[in-house]
Amino acid sequence: MCSVMHSSLARLRRSSLDTSLPVDRARVLDTLVNNLEGMAYRCLDDADWTMLFVSHGCLELTGYASHELIEGGCVSWEELTYAEDRAGVRSEIAGAIAAGKRFSVQYRILTGAGDVKWVIERGIAVADETGRPVIEGFIEDVSVRHRTLKALEHAELRYRHIFEHASEGIFQTTRDGRYLAANPALAKLYGYATAQELIDDLADIERRLYVEESRREKFRHLMEAHGEVVNFESEVFCRDGSKIWISENAHIVRGAHGEFICYEGTVQDITERKSYQEQLERQANHDLLTGLPNRNLLADRLGQAIARAERLGYFLALVFIDLDNFKFINDSLGHTAGDELLVEISSRLRRCLRTSDTVARQGGDEFVLVLNDHYRVNSIISLLERVLVEIGRPVSLSGREFQVGASLGVALYPQDGGDASSLLKHADVAMYAAKDRGRNNFQFFTHELNHLADERLNLETAMRAGIDLDEFAVHFQPKVDHRRRIVGVEALARWNNPEFGSVAPDRFIPIAEETGLIVPLTEVILRKAFAAAARWLPIHGHAIQVAVNLSPKLFLGEEIVNRVAALLREAGLAPERVELEVTESVFLGDSERAVRILGEFKDLGVGLAMDDFGTGYSSLSYLRRFPLDIIKIDRSLVTGIEHEEEVAMIARAVISLGQSLRKTVVAEGVENQAQFDFLRFQGCNEFQGYLIARPMPAGDFEQLLARSGGQL
Ligand code: C2E
Ligand code: MG
Ligand code: MG
Repeated sequence: MCSVMHSSLARLRRSSLDTSLPVDRARVLDTLVNNLEGMAYRCLDDADWTMLFVSHGCLELTGYASHELIEGGCVSWEELTYAEDRAGVRSEIAGAIAAGKRFSVQYRILTGAGDVKWVIERGIAVADETGRPVIEGFIEDVSVRHRTLKALEHAELRYRHIFEHASEGIFQTTRDGRYLAANPALAKLYGYATAQELIDDLADIERRLYVEESRREKFRHLMEAHGEVVNFESEVFCRDGSKIWISENAHIVRGAHGEFICYEGTVQDITERKSYQEQLERQANHDLLTGLPNRNLLADRLGQAIARAERLGYFLALVFIDLDNFKFINDSLGHTAGDELLVEISSRLRRCLRTSDTVARQGGDEFVLVLNDHYRVNSIISLLERVLVEIGRPVSLSGREFQVGASLGVALYPQDGGDASSLLKHADVAMYAAKDRGRNNFQFFTHELNHLADERLNLETAMRAGIDLDEFAVHFQPKVDHRRRIVGVEALARWNNPEFGSVAPDRFIPIAEETGLIVPLTEVILRKAFAAAARWLPIHGHAIQVAVNLSPKLFLGEEIVNRVAALLREAGLAPERVELEVTESVFLGDSERAVRILGEFKDLGVGLAMDDFGTGYSSLSYLRRFPLDIIKIDRSLVTGIEHEEEVAMIARAVISLGQSLRKTVVAEGVENQAQFDFLRFQGCNEFQGYLIARPMPAGDFEQLLARSGGQL
């Protein structure tokens, strides 16, 4: 009899003992056998498994009624057994019988309706009432369970496949940081040959894996608080000690009753993305050319510096640096040389500062320094002096030595501004003040300078409009020879604005140069100057020369020669009557270009004058190399000439230099007779200044000509 029945009967027996009631065993047995799901049987161990008895369950299990199976009435069990499984069933049962044991075998049957069912048969060989060997047992339908199991098996297989072959690392760990499972991808990620090696070796995740010690604690904290972590990025050690960046997604696995089982999650190697990100961040925060912090990072550093100064009570100095003449070098020597210069200057600046200070590149030729922890303004001043000296050391570019200066503007925290933007603004204002002071110096911000800055902006706007509204005029200042006969005039721009009144060229010309307004402005001035000059008749048998000023930027720009030629044609003025005044900075950079343009002007027939000689580099070599006709001695070398021996000496030298090079020497700013006499005695050719006449409108000059007969 089958085991199920044995145990049920044993229980019944015990309960009958408990209650001491007589039990109709045959009836109980009958009920059980016929009501259990499945089929109880007795059969012969023959080729057909000839059934001697089957319970009522037979019909439901096989689709045949009991009598159709008994004694092979209609079909034998051997026939019911799925053909492919028959041999297996037989050998299993034979083996158990030979060993005198119970058997349990799973196989398929074909039901009367033609369905295939999975059954499990459990039985035992026994002797019947007559001593004949028979088999008794129980067969039940396990198709559903079988299908479920198979599905599970498949699922497990599929998941195992994913686990084994995933490109992401997958893990299960305990709370205290031991691996329960890891897949090959994780092993590979961390530098192990197999997952087992990783599990064995990496016994303490907390201390062995994360570079930042508190990382595992953070991971655990998030897990316990939210049940999961999402895109948790950390730097970790690999087996060989190298470091990589990973991103983890993980959750807590809980049992049916909510009990903790493990942490489970995936790991992705994001080292490449991280380094790309870092690179992007670097690019976002640093200037590519010099590697210095850029505006972004500067804002950040400045914020920190302000907080620090606030806390410690020290000064914080914000310094704006603008290189003098940079644009000039960049335009004339080319961008490569300009870049070289910027790189050189940035490394010099870096060397001047302490590591806690910041040098940033603000763009173009502008740098910003953030100087921390100064408790005396004096120490800032000496630092700035050092910075100026460093910047001023010669720089070798394209095989030539150059000297650049810088204008520095300083704003101090807290007195010049309480936040980053006002400090920056005020340092910028101070820097412009430094530029106005003649460059290569530094200026501290004072509140009056604010007004200056505003005015500058207003001037620019007004100038734009003023060009259109024809607010610009030309005045003419006569030049005379040693007998005070008029030989020419210098055309000087004048601006009369309804709001600002009359604005001096020294104020608006630099702004025009910076904003590009110099191009339309010069056009206006030249047109007016040439038109006036074209009206003037010769005097003492000589044509009256007209000198015009050309700013260096314009001079080196494109098309200038053609523009001037066109304006001359337009006015009907002979080129020989015009002198172009340029300053020395024209020769500072790309001298090849300067020589070429000068040559083209020469070919056109205009005269060329070096203006303001004696103020800048005043190199003798310029005078020899460039085809200049005229040298204009700057007013600073004329003022004081009559009683300052040193000034007189320089003026004398310049005049004799001009004479030996066969240039016309003109003195500017002659204000008194003593100066005139001295200069004339030294051999100066022409004279210009308030002594002779102030600049005046064309009409006034024409009257003066008529009145004086050309003798002043
Ligand atoms: P600059 O070319 O050296 O012109 C001479 C300046 O000296 C003029 O100043 C003139 O008025 C001034 N001056 C002449 N004689 C005396 C004197 O005896 N005493 C004193 N104290 N000053 C005297 P201004 O007109 O104010 O022009 C200043 C500068 O602005 C000019 O210096 C020139 O560099 C520039 N400038 C003027 N007009 C133009 C222009 O149309 N184009 C360009 N690019 N620059 C111009
Ligand atoms: Mg001039
Ligand atoms: Mg001058």
